[in-house]
Amino acid sequence: MPRTLTYSPSLAVPLTTDCPWHCGYCGFRTDQKGLIPDASFHHLLDRAQAEDASEIVLLSGEAPDTVPHLKSELRRRGFPDFVAYARWACERVIERGFLPHAHLGALSRAQLDRLKGVTASMSLMLENVDDTSNASVAPEKKAASRLAGIDAAGAARMPLVSGILVGLGETPDSRLRSLDALGVSHARHGHLMAVAINTFVPNARSPMHDAGHSPTMDEYAELIAHARAALPGVAIQIAPHLTAAWQELLPSIDDLGSVGTGEDIANAPHRWLGAGALADACAGQGLALAKRLPVWGKHDAAGWVSDRIRRAIEERG
Ligand code: SF4
Repeated sequence: MPRTLTYSPSLAVPLTTDCPWHCGYCGFRTDQKGLIPDASFHHLLDRAQAEDASEIVLLSGEAPDTVPHLKSELRRRGFPDFVAYARWACERVIERGFLPHAHLGALSRAQLDRLKGVTASMSLMLENVDDTSNASVAPEKKAASRLAGIDAAGAARMPLVSGILVGLGETPDSRLRSLDALGVSHARHGHLMAVAINTFVPNARSPMHDAGHSPTMDEYAELIAHARAALPGVAIQIAPHLTAAWQELLPSIDDLGSVGTGEDIANAPHRWLGAGALADACAGQGLALAKRLPVWGKHDAAGWVSDRIRRAIEERG
């Protein structure tokens, strides 16, 4: 039997791209777009149905409640805060037969508790544990707040994907320490499903136009070995469309993450690679590729997912 890698067929739905912060590598943030119009939200769910996606990745910038015009729009649309709106969006996603995966920045335990019943899983990248190692991250996005959010997700028993971002000028040592920090939180809570080793790739809208150092294969080997030791049992993930060496890395990793179609809205103009191309590349190396849901393995169980999410999983068969 060939070893099997996994991926989740998904579609990204940006609840808002407006973000109060300014990270140099970010090609996602806007200033004045507001919340996604309802018609666009439902249109994207129609598209997800046509493309046979199972996962809807709900995206936002950080702390939308601190943006005055978003706060006004939320009130106008009948939501006391952004988490209430995100809950509403998750409920519509479930009603349409999909599973919500939330990528909404660092949330507090109280916010996570409000989302847990209607969210299959979440993503929150650590990126790097060393604030001095990475000058391009917004000053508000300190590692301490990311780690607090990652830990809060564990305390709320929210299945989580986290990871590091390589190529922003960080030191090699800080990458390893970042994986160790994730290992500490996972040892405490057991909530990490996958750890992503992401590389910064300049995109059309990011203020930073030069990629820093992209890892060599030896550096990837060290990072993967370190992640396996620091995070035993946690899948190693890369994003093939943003990783130059993705084909060479396939034998060493486990998961290709959420895979959409067309343009990756967080990394435009980079486009997702089709599932067929991914499957062919796996087959070429004696590997198999299989779909998974946004919550999988030991986290697809009572205690990790709510009864409502469990029913949604069962309805997908
Ligand atoms: S990376 Fe996140 S926090 Fe930084 S500007 Fe972009 S959306 Fe905002």
